Amino acid sequence: MISLINASDQPCIDLGGNCQDDSSTCSGSYYSGKCTGSHSRRCCTRTVVEHVTGDCSNIRIISRDIWGARSPKGTSNIHLPVPNFFIHHTAGKHCTTFSACISRMKSIQNSHMDENGWADIGYSFLVGEDGNVYEGRGWDRVGSHTKGYNRIGLAASFMGNFMMDAPNSTALDAVKELIQCGIRKGKVSHTYALFGHSDVKNTECPGTALYNVIKTWPRFHAHSPK
Ligand SMILES: [Zn+2]
Repeated sequence: MISLINASDQPCIDLGGNCQDDSSTCSGSYYSGKCTGSHSRRCCTRTVVEHVTGDCSNIRIISRDIWGARSPKGTSNIHLPVPNFFIHHTAGKHCTTFSACISRMKSIQNSHMDENGWADIGYSFLVGEDGNVYEGRGWDRVGSHTKGYNRIGLAASFMGNFMMDAPNSTALDAVKELIQCGIRKGKVSHTYALFGHSDVKNTECPGTALYNVIKTWPRFHAHSPK
């Protein structure tokens, strides 16, 4: 489990939990201060949720356990830090709430595993217009996102179709911050280069409107993909 979400400002339901009496069994971990009623009513979450300190404190990364990911059929470790970071869109439905984005995550994972035949959801991370980052394969695994470059890059995908309109600013800020967090954690090289999927493949991904935004971001095309 690599990702932690900042529990301090999240209601119980957004931690993927339920309020219950803390004398009852909780398969994850109990959190205080999330439930109304008696002091013994606490939030039982499905996973250990820790307060983020340091590297990624500006974003919420929703771990696989919390969104309810299936187990991968296989994993392969990636060589870190990666020199490339790729931006995609899913070209599917948008989501603007935690519950809608979780539903999208499950649907995308099912499609990638059952229709595409991949080992897992393809992207390293996905982001919703609820402003949360969702853990895909995470920082440490080779993904299935950018053919020919999966072993030398990580990728974030915006959930939605961004041909006509760019993602909202909370989603854009989350991905910018995700890259900075990756640098601080030693997962992304500080001399990384940023690309859109269409830079290395004949595709409309990540959508014209989104591409026009990432063109203005730091280290866009700082070097050729390597
Ligand atoms: Zn793409």
